[in-house]
Parts: sequence; C-alpha cells; structure tokens
Amino acid sequence: MQLAGLSLLGFGTAAVGAEEFHAVDPATGNDLEPAFHSAQAADVETATRLAAAAAPVLGRKTGAERGIFLRALADRIAANAPALSARAQQETALPAARCESEIGRTCQQLRLFAAEIERGDWVDARIETAQPDRKPLPKPDHRSMLQSIGPVAVFGASNFPFAFSVAGGDTASAFAAGNPVIVKAHPAHPGVSALVGRLVVDTVRACGWPEGSFSLLFDSGHAIGQALVRHPLVRAVGFTGSARGGRALMDLAAARPDPIPVFAEMGSINPVFILPGAWAERGNTIVDGLYASTTAGVGQFCTNPGLIVLERSPNAEGFLAQLAKKIGAISAAPMLSRGICASFLAATKARSAEGGIRSFAAGASPAGGTVAPQWFESDAAHFLANETLAEEIFGPSSLVVWCRDRAERLAVARRLHGGLTATVHATVAEAAGEEELFETLAAKAGRILFNGFPTGVEVSAAMVHGGPFPASSDARTTSVGTRSLVRFARLVCWQGFPNALLPAALQDANPLGLLRQVDGVVTRDPVH
Ligand code: NAP
Repeated sequence: MQLAGLSLLGFGTAAVGAEEFHAVDPATGNDLEPAFHSAQAADVETATRLAAAAAPVLGRKTGAERGIFLRALADRIAANAPALSARAQQETALPAARCESEIGRTCQQLRLFAAEIERGDWVDARIETAQPDRKPLPKPDHRSMLQSIGPVAVFGASNFPFAFSVAGGDTASAFAAGNPVIVKAHPAHPGVSALVGRLVVDTVRACGWPEGSFSLLFDSGHAIGQALVRHPLVRAVGFTGSARGGRALMDLAAARPDPIPVFAEMGSINPVFILPGAWAERGNTIVDGLYASTTAGVGQFCTNPGLIVLERSPNAEGFLAQLAKKIGAISAAPMLSRGICASFLAATKARSAEGGIRSFAAGASPAGGTVAPQWFESDAAHFLANETLAEEIFGPSSLVVWCRDRAERLAVARRLHGGLTATVHATVAEAAGEEELFETLAAKAGRILFNGFPTGVEVSAAMVHGGPFPASSDARTTSVGTRSLVRFARLVCWQGFPNALLPAALQDANPLGLLRQVDGVVTRDPVH
C-alpha cells in the first residue's frame, strides 16, 4: 500500500499544497515519510460539493445495500491488517497487539452496524392512521421515521488510530444512517489515516456508490477542520478528542447562520469510589484492577480512572500503599505524540506545585519524550475547594481523594463534572444503603459501573459512551454502539400521503418487515 500524502477528494486527490507536515515516530522523535500536504480551502469546497451530490443517493440506499458496503469495508480493512498495524505502531508507539485488537474492533463495529441497518428497526417507524370521523376535528393520517441527515464531518482522536478515526465509530454510524462522510484526519497518524482512507474509497468504487460518499482531508492545523464545520453543505459533525477542541467546534457550529449539531465525545476523569466493605471483601482484586485500568496504553484512554475516592482506614491505606508500589515500578514510555507528552508533563508539573496536593506515586524518571505515571493525593476538603482538580489530565496520572466519612464522599460525588463513566466498588450489602451516591453518579455519567473498571468499552447495542458536558456535547446520545446511529439522522413526518408515495418503511404492507408502532401498538403486522 503506497502513501501519496495528498487529501482524497472522492475518487481524486487534492493538488500538492504549499504547507506540508510529517508524521513523527513518538518513540524516536524522527519524521516519518512521506510528507503530507495540508488541504486548502478549495479542497473543502470540492469535498463538500461532491458529498452534497452523493447525499440523496446514499439516503435512498436500502439497509441491505448499506450493510453490503459496511461489510465490504470491514473485509478490506481485515485483509490489510498487517500493513495498517505496522504503520499505526510507527505513528503512535502503540504496541502491535493493541493495534491488531483495535483493527479487529473496528471491523466488528462496521459489521455490527451492518446487522443493525439490515434489520432496519432503528428508523423507529410510527404510524397513526386517520380517523376521518373524529369529533370535533378529523384526525389526519401521519407517519414518521428517521431519515439520513446529509454530509457529516468527522474528526478522529489521536489515541484510537482505527476505532475512533477514519473508519471508526462516527464514520460507520454516519454511513449506516445513509450519509456521505468527510474525515479531517488526525495529524498525529496521517499515514494510517491515508491507508484506511484509500480502503474506504476502494469500497465506495467497488460498491458502485457515488464518489462524494467519502473524502479525507489532511491539515496540521485547525483551518481545514474549522472550514468544514462552517461549510453550509455540512449537516452534522462527529468529533472525538479534547474538551477544548470539542468546545471550539460546538461554538463554531452554533455561530453558523444555520446551526448544525456537533456530537463531540470529549475527555472524562472517570471517578472510582471504593467503599470500606469492598476492601475487606476483595482488596487485592481492586488493587490489581485499578493498576491494570490506569496503566493500560500509558493511561491514554478517555475512560482512564483519573480520580480514586475513598475513606481513610488502615485497610484502605494498606491496599493503596500496595498500589503505589506497583505504580512506582513502572518504566517510562512514549506517549502518542510529542504534543500530548508535553501537555502531560506541563499538567502534572502544575498539579504538583499546587498547595494541598501531595505526590502519591511516581514511576521511573522520564527521559527523551517518554513519561512515567505521576499520581497525586489530596484530602476531600481540598478537592472540594479546587475546581481544577476535577479536570482530566490525559495520560498516566490519577488523583487519590481521601474522605473522612460517607458525607464527604457524597459531597465529592456532587462536585463532579459530567463524565463518561463513574464506578463504585462496594459489597452488595453496603451498596443497598447508597441510593444517593448511585443517583448522584447516574446524573453525572453516561455509564455507571458496579465492581468493575471503566477501560475497555464494549461495542454493543446497549453501550452508552457519552455523558453530560464536558464528557459529550449531547448527553442524549452515545458515540459507541448501535444507538449512535440516530445522531446522524433526523425525523420526518408524512401527513396524509398516498401509500405508494411513502417510504417503504411506512407503507401499509410493511414490505421491510419492520417493528413499528401502529396506533399505539408495537407490531410487525401490516396496517389493515
Ligand atoms: P484533540 O487535540 O482535541 O484533537 C482531535 C482533533 O480535533 C484533531 O484533528 C485536532 O487537530 C482537532 N482540533 C482540536 N482543536 C481544534 C480546534 N480548536 N479547531 C479545529 N480542530 C481542532 O484531541 P486528541 O489529542 O486527539 O485526543 C485526546 C483527548 O481525546 C483526551 O482528552 C481524551 O480523553 C479524548 N478522547 C475522548 C474519547 C471519547 O470517546 N469521549 C475517545 C478518545 C479520546 P490538531 O491535532 O491539529 O489540534
């Protein structure tokens, strides 16, 4: 697979631009070939014009046709896994096993969406038949369902070069819902983005889809991404990344003459509350689980547990001392990019300089672009008085918050910002008296875990990977799992239409065999 370093505009490529950048091997700091050329304003015009032309064609594709496309894309990615993994390892310093498992997850994700749209029930078809004789006014026939929304701009995150990138969850769900996609490649992994982008284009061609179904734009800065979000032909945005980046795009979209939705999945501190009984019941298991969850991938997961909340007791202090020892033995490792590494070092330096914060554990001394874990501890009173302590430090850093009692623990829970996850470790007996804690956490997080660990997000029908701001821009949705489809669809109601002019999903005979709500009854039966 050859890398040309040019943006992909439908079936063509962009012209060579004046600005170029290289991927950097985070382990060595060396540039990787080839040079990538930043897209230009004219390329945004071409990509969006092609996408707008493709949108009605994709919107008319049946679930079965879209399913064939998604499965074909998954097969192509799987067939090219060795080359994709090799480039991803160079660009991200992620190990081979992680890259391979993420490729597998990306293919499984595409196939899961295929199965969902082949079944078709996701369109949520609802039919209210006419009652011409209703008094005082006749009731008209009205029928509604979800429809494709139009061209979707997708921004991938640095820490998932496959599953949250060019053919990741946002792209898969946008395609599944019947929309063209324009991806702004993450500049930390342009090579792997280009390789996957080429496979998407090949699949578009092989399936006979219009060329505007997919484009991929490179840029080392923000101009192209921002132009995409502002562009009148773009109808929705999917973003995964930092709270700062997500908020900037939300503000841009809201300032358009015609605001569009931005589905931004952002950072999170993923608090883990450990109740006293849990230590007595499973202390060693909790230490091992916390160690694995906080250190996986050099802490570079959006679900990394960044806050550990517990009450002081000899038991808890003993187990935490064990954890600190394990963390202290970790050697330094490169992060995903030199920029992320610099941000981590600056954030941990600032935290260590704050009054009321003590070092809890530190790994080996970092050198030459690598980092080791930097954990801190504080008392609950200090945490409650300092808003910034509830913010994410992206990387291997967590804050241990010691509470005096149950009331202080609840106060910490109430102080949290919106998050992707919140976890409680407790015995079943003590959990029974903690309704207030569970209610508080369920109001703050998209996923709440009992005696588990938040890293490892299952791609499934029931998954919720989202949460109140700043975890996401819209707590009503998820960016992982089949529920994410609805982000890139909009509701349309047909009133008084002749049967033959309705979409198949809403016709009397129910030719697609969908589960529909007909006059208040959920059924696969035709309308009589
Ligand atoms: P990022 O720096 O926000 O970058 C994401 C993408 O958005 C990049 O293409 C970036 O371009 C672009 N971008 C950032 N700010 C922008 C702005 N103001 N205008 C236009 N484009 C902008 O995030 P990251 O480094 O890739 O990822 C790390 C963060 O993502 C962490 O906070 C992590 O927790 C979060 N994350 C969340 C999830 C989730 O599902 N919720 C999953 C993975 C990661 P540049 O690189 O050129 O700035």
